[in-house]
Formats: sequence, C-alpha cells, structure tokens
Amino acid sequence: MKYRTAFYQFSCFLLTTIFLIGTMESKAQQVVEGIHYHTGLPVQVKISNGIIQDIVVIDKAAEENPVYIAPGFFDNQVNGFAGVSFAFGDSDLTPEGIEKATRELWKKGVTSYLPTLTTNSIEVLTSNFELLSKAVDNKSLLGSIPGFHLEGPYINPEDGFRGAHPKQFVKLPDWDEFMKLHVASGRNILQVTLAPEMEGAMDFITKASREGIVVALGHHNGDMKTVTTAIDKGAKIATHLGNGAANMINRHYNPFWPQLADDRLHISIIGDSFHLLPEEIQVFYKVKGVEKTIITSDVTHYAALEPGEYKTSTGETIELTEGGMLRYPAQNVLYGSASPITKGVGYVIKVTGCTLADAVQMASTNPARLYNLTDRGVLEPGKRADLVLFTLDDFQVNVHETWVKGERVYESKSEK
Ligand SMILES: [Zn+2]
Repeated sequence: MKYRTAFYQFSCFLLTTIFLIGTMESKAQQVVEGIHYHTGLPVQVKISNGIIQDIVVIDKAAEENPVYIAPGFFDNQVNGFAGVSFAFGDSDLTPEGIEKATRELWKKGVTSYLPTLTTNSIEVLTSNFELLSKAVDNKSLLGSIPGFHLEGPYINPEDGFRGAHPKQFVKLPDWDEFMKLHVASGRNILQVTLAPEMEGAMDFITKASREGIVVALGHHNGDMKTVTTAIDKGAKIATHLGNGAANMINRHYNPFWPQLADDRLHISIIGDSFHLLPEEIQVFYKVKGVEKTIITSDVTHYAALEPGEYKTSTGETIELTEGGMLRYPAQNVLYGSASPITKGVGYVIKVTGCTLADAVQMASTNPARLYNLTDRGVLEPGKRADLVLFTLDDFQVNVHETWVKGERVYESKSEK
C-alpha cells in the first residue's frame, strides 16, 4: 500500500512536470506575421527560444500597403548614435550610453551593428575598446553588437583622402600596436579599414587576414598595382566607395577604377543621399551587383541632434545642416552621416531600381556573410530571430516592429 501511494505521488509529480514544461514551451513560442520580403507571400514566422523555428505560408488577403518581414538590418559602420559617440575620448561613452544607442538603433530596424572607432590617440582607442568589449556579452543588448570596426588610424594623411580624420593621430600601419587594440576589444575587431599604399600595409593585411579580421581599403589613394596586391593579400572590401577621397583626382589614375574593376572586392556605399550622387550608386551597383555590395550608414552621434555647429573633442568644427547633411567645412568634405542605414535601403531601391529583396540582401545578408556570422542575416529556420517589420512608403522604410533574438524590442506607437 505504501509503495502504491509513493508510486501514485511520483506519477502525479511526473505528469505535473511534463505539463509545466509543455506550458513553458508553448509560452516561449511566438508567432510574427508579415509579407516575406523575398517571396512576397504572407507568412507566419514561428520563434522559440530566440531562434526561428519555422516559416509557414498562410492564407491572407492582399493589403494595399503590406507590412514586410525581413531579417533585421546589419550596419557595419556606426560611429555613434543619438548623442553617444563610440569614437571620441571625452564623450559620454558609458555602458548606459551604449545601451541607449543600441535601443535607438533598434527603432530604426538595426538588429546588428559594428560600433566604429575612427582615427584617434591610441589611449582613447584603447579605453573605448575596453569599454565596448563588455557590450559584446551584455545580455540586455541581445547580441546586437557582434564586434567592432576600426577605421584608421592607418590611413592616408593627405587632405581629402584623410576626410575628417584628425591628422595628428594618422600613422603608419603597426601590427603590434593593432594587436594591443584587438586584445583591448576582447579580440572582437571584425574589420579594419586602412590605406594599402602606406609603408607596412601589405604585411599588415597579410597578418590581419590570417587572424580572420576583414581588411577594408579606405581613405586611400592606392593605384592599380597597390589595390590588386592588397586584394591578393586578403583585402575584402572597399569602405564607403566614392568617399574618403580628394575632391580633385586624376581621371585615369585614381583609386576608384581598380576597386571597381576587381570582382573579388566587395564595396560598401553610404545611401544617405548626400555622400554619393544617384549615378554613382547606379554605376557602383551595376558593376558590383547585389552579391558584392553592402549598404552602410557611417552614421555619427550627431544623428537625431538639432541643426547647427558642433565642436568635436579633437577641436574640429562640424556643421549639421537643416537638410540633414553633416559637413566638415575646414576641408570641404562630409563628416560621416546623420542618417541610419534604414534610409539607405529605401534610397538604393529608388536610385537603382533594385528589388526590395536585393536591398535587404545588401543591408542584412551580405554584411553577416562577410564577417562569417552564420547565425544571422537571413530569414531561415535555425537562425536568430532578428526581424524587422516595415512598410515601404515612397521609397522610405517605416519600421513598425523590431525583434532581436526573439524579443520584440520596438513597436511603432502609430500602429496602435
Ligand atoms: Zn570614413
């Protein structure tokens, strides 16, 4: 009798446990509906434990202005956002600031991004990398920061090619110094942008490529031979092609032709409508195609601030115009962008006539693939549930919802 009671109690316990696990599982599963950005069919995306479990085509009447569902945008060049700079020394770069910038980027449909540190003193770069390294594992950021982009200080110091990078901190490539920065970042530098014509650059490119770090060519004046050798040694992408160059260049001998001519090289383009003319984007896209083009923002912390003049921590005067253009008047060059990647997605569709599927590939899939981040960048079972839901209104992407690792982190108020 005693045995029977114990058995009965054990069975009850077992059934309750199974029931509870079942409840937890069903609670953990979420369903998001939208028009699949690639197939154009209405779908349900089933999510469990932060991962896409299944994508099912459903019966749904066609809407006039459908809400698309796509893999969240991946921006590989974010210098700062909403008043928080990743690149400056005396800014309010704190763990809270990084969380604030990330939350604001989520509102724009960005689910992954590389905080980008530009030319500065090694001390500032080191301390900023040390601080940012903790963000990679910060659970509240849900894996939105997979690593970093270092743009400089190993770039061409000449006016124009240097862009708005402060000259006093521009220097020749130094592998040992770079490795110290890489260690300070928790070995999380995923991309380094440099000028291949600088002394020591080729050796640097070989070593970085061996480490699995993506080498980008940028702020440079490399000729055909230099660019080709850099690609032979492992360089994979041209950073913001068409920018980071002098206003007056030779019509034959300039860094653009060899970078466009070599099919091995990816390019990133800034689609804020200020950095490149429509015909430049059209030609770059025709040459490189959807597989080798990446839409980026180069957005700075001036994004979302009032128009006017600002002083940088390194003493430069920057102007944010009424139209959203960010200028560095002393050199008559642009000073990064004030528009998130989201604007670029709509603008590239507008000027190239590419499909929405192609634009999403250039803003989500290609960057994830370039950094070998196989857990994201596509809408497929088994991948992270990083989703953006949006309407496309007159070539403008209006974000309705953003999901990161299966959590809805943003929902447009106007929808309610
Ligand atoms: Zn740049």
